[in-house]
Amino acid sequence: MEYVSKDKVMKTYSIISSSKDKENYQKKIYSVLKKYWGYQSFRPWQEETIFSILEGQEALTVLPTGGGKSLCFQLPALLLEGVAIVISPLISLMKDQVDSLNDMGIAAACLNSSLLADERRSVIDRLKSRKIKLLYISPERLKYETTIQMLKSIPLSFFVIDEAHCISHWGHDFRESYRNLGMIKKTFPSIKVHAFTATATREVQQDILEQLGLENPKKHIASIDRPNLTYRVMPRIHMITQIKDILKKHTNEAGIIYCLRRDDVDGLSANLNALGYNNLPYHAGLDDNARHQHQDKFAQEKVDLIVATIAFGMGIDRSNIRFVIHAAMPKSMEHYQQETGRAGRDGLPSNCYMLYGGRDYRTWEFLLKKSPYYDVMKEKLSILYNFCAKPHCRHKVLANYFSQDYTKAGCDACDYCLGEVDMVENPLIIGQKILSCVYRVRSNNDPGFGASQIAGILKGNMTDKIVHWNHQELSTFGIMSNVSLSYIRYMVEQLIGQGFLQRDEEYSTLSLTQLGIRVLRGEVFPVLAKPMIATRKKEISQKRKTKKEKDWAGVDMDLFQLLREKRSSLAAKRKLPAYVIFGDKSLKDMAVIQPVTKDDFATVFGVGERKLKKYADVFIKVITDYIGRN
Ligand code: ADP
Repeated sequence: MEYVSKDKVMKTYSIISSSKDKENYQKKIYSVLKKYWGYQSFRPWQEETIFSILEGQEALTVLPTGGGKSLCFQLPALLLEGVAIVISPLISLMKDQVDSLNDMGIAAACLNSSLLADERRSVIDRLKSRKIKLLYISPERLKYETTIQMLKSIPLSFFVIDEAHCISHWGHDFRESYRNLGMIKKTFPSIKVHAFTATATREVQQDILEQLGLENPKKHIASIDRPNLTYRVMPRIHMITQIKDILKKHTNEAGIIYCLRRDDVDGLSANLNALGYNNLPYHAGLDDNARHQHQDKFAQEKVDLIVATIAFGMGIDRSNIRFVIHAAMPKSMEHYQQETGRAGRDGLPSNCYMLYGGRDYRTWEFLLKKSPYYDVMKEKLSILYNFCAKPHCRHKVLANYFSQDYTKAGCDACDYCLGEVDMVENPLIIGQKILSCVYRVRSNNDPGFGASQIAGILKGNMTDKIVHWNHQELSTFGIMSNVSLSYIRYMVEQLIGQGFLQRDEEYSTLSLTQLGIRVLRGEVFPVLAKPMIATRKKEISQKRKTKKEKDWAGVDMDLFQLLREKRSSLAAKRKLPAYVIFGDKSLKDMAVIQPVTKDDFATVFGVGERKLKKYADVFIKVITDYIGRN
């Protein structure tokens, strides 16, 4: 495979030293982009990052999931002499990337523990005879002297640290083996290192640069915002009904449901299968075989729904995931950003739903206790709980969390900005009623009480427990008798999430925080949303339907389904993930253009030279048969 004619390949590390070179390479990178990837233009920051690599300028690049990080280093690897070494945390992720590159006609390989001795030898032979442009390896491999010696014996173009946030204690996926990666600059002082990640707060960015010891590095920080994702966060009231309602809106679409624990996965998966929502479970407790099988079936589009713990994800590159449901709250904004980020990597509109409850907070608090970083983790957990319980533009809060401004007046892509959340008109009064009830119950010298007792008092219910403690005598008894118990409970959860109330870890009793006292004094205001009523639900659902129809206007859906089936059968035959063949955006384009000649097929989004040769005939046949029949 020849990428650049020999005379054009200059020295390694930097092939651009003048503006003339830059001009030449500008054309070159566009032609390589079209030739191999079949794309016409770059996404934000891709071009800058590619030039940084070609100029030998070390950089940290933060691009959101689906932002196109891989292309940023894969493309310059083709233009530079030598092999680019990509440090990647997961074997399955490496395999998918290598399959994808090979399918495009780019020589890539990986070295990891899943290879048999023969396969490993063959990769090393190909490396030595300079037949490979990209080599994916795990961070652990760099501990072996044999690996170091092997890498020293071949010309290297540059190193890439993928998922670089794993290097930082401040990050959410810290990995001990990533901590060692500072050795690269020491062992290979003349080779440039480039770091990539999707999620990094300012602290994490700093940590990455320091740990890796990058030389005078540039930072390319893209907006982490994913405008194609619509976020909705709602309290979990009746989980299975809520999930069923969501699934009904996504018939024939791919989605992931994340649960907190393995047992929850098994239960929900079985429950949904019994209700006719065909799905497979995925968690670390399944045996290797079942896990691989389920993951492959999802990747090859033989199944569209997976119920999983977060063990499912990092290795999933399926680009047409149209929805992600969190059946419970994850443990940090980083996790939320990353897990929801698996939806809509192809840039098409996709949906993220989160069902949360105070119980999730307490479960995480308990699970995190064992962590040496408990304080950091607990702070992250509280911020996320606040995000759930304080309705606001979700895109803005996420961007601000990652130290970025969000200047749009409304995102038009979250429950708050779409007007799906009805706000309480007098949140201060409601907040004060509830908080003063908690205050009075506590000042009575009684043991603390939980949310249901507080709600009962406010509602004015004469339960045995209320009479036993004489709570009907309190001045707050019955002051919210005009609303339902569940309404009051909903308000209480929001007050906890926003830090005005705290719940005792052991007995779940409620007490006021300092911030809560300031609400009583009228110095700060809570932000409270009303629970949704049935008529509003209907209205919103209709609005969503219309929006979806607009997004798919002009696409022949029957043809799109046939193209999907063809893609899935090709993927199964070749044991590849379906997206490696074509993404949904390409199939959508085919269902609009309906190309019947190779020339027309070449204009389809994502069709490069190799894909034209390999797939034009098969897909044109599906299209012509379909046109013939209709
Ligand atoms: P990330 O690693 O940042 O999550 P990927 O590298 O997996 O993202 O890219 C996400 C999707 O976007 C892939 O399907 C990829 O082929 C596509 N993509 C990347 N760059 C471009 C581009 N310039 N134009 C169109 N699609 C692109």
